Amino acid sequence: MTRINGFIGRRDFFKLAGTGGFAIAANALVGSLIGGTQKTAIADVNPANPNPVNADQALKLLLDGNQRFIHQQPQYPHQSLKHLQLVAKAQYPFAAVLGCADSRVPPELVFDQGLGDLFIVRVAGNVASDMVIGSLEYTTAVLGTPLIVVLGHKKCGAVAGALKNELLPGRIGYVVESIKLALAKIKSSDDAVIANIQYQKGKLLENSTILAKLLYEGKLKIVGACYDTDTGKVSMIT
Ligand SMILES: [Zn+2]
Repeated sequence: MTRINGFIGRRDFFKLAGTGGFAIAANALVGSLIGGTQKTAIADVNPANPNPVNADQALKLLLDGNQRFIHQQPQYPHQSLKHLQLVAKAQYPFAAVLGCADSRVPPELVFDQGLGDLFIVRVAGNVASDMVIGSLEYTTAVLGTPLIVVLGHKKCGAVAGALKNELLPGRIGYVVESIKLALAKIKSSDDAVIANIQYQKGKLLENSTILAKLLYEGKLKIVGACYDTDTGKVSMIT
């Protein structure tokens, strides 16, 4: 196995993952990330990226795409057969999105992006569960994605359910319970959506040493944003 300045090589990571060695590869990566002695840029994990962007450039790409979407001038980029075949070789998503599973908020459409552009984790209420965090650790630490957008949206049913504080059947209640803590003293549904975005964004750092370290080292930005289901516009949450 080759290593790049202490990190496990990306190619080796996938080789191991493909042969059942995912855990070994992941452990090696995590060890190097939290070991405290590693000073290598995260880009070295993903050295072959032909078009690397930083977090600010990534955010601009998303917001520009959203402008095209709301003005009904989409370019539908990176959706050709040729691009499909290109990204089949390797993926370099420039942004990760933690979004709600709501059918009205598909990130590739609302940001006018294509194959290989976005690493998307969608779950009702854009809840930052351990499973979600694991996926985001993978794209940032292994694939080198420099930006995570926590994307909530107006009229979110999961947030509305948490605000009503009613008992819900089955595992639906589990989703709502993961949001309730964000909503102390919140009354309106729009305020609740914003509060939940900020809360889940905080959970990413609180529950992930890897994300916190990447952020501290300036290799990652995490931002909150809200999608307006009436206009299609994405607004940043500060
Ligand atoms: Zn929702």
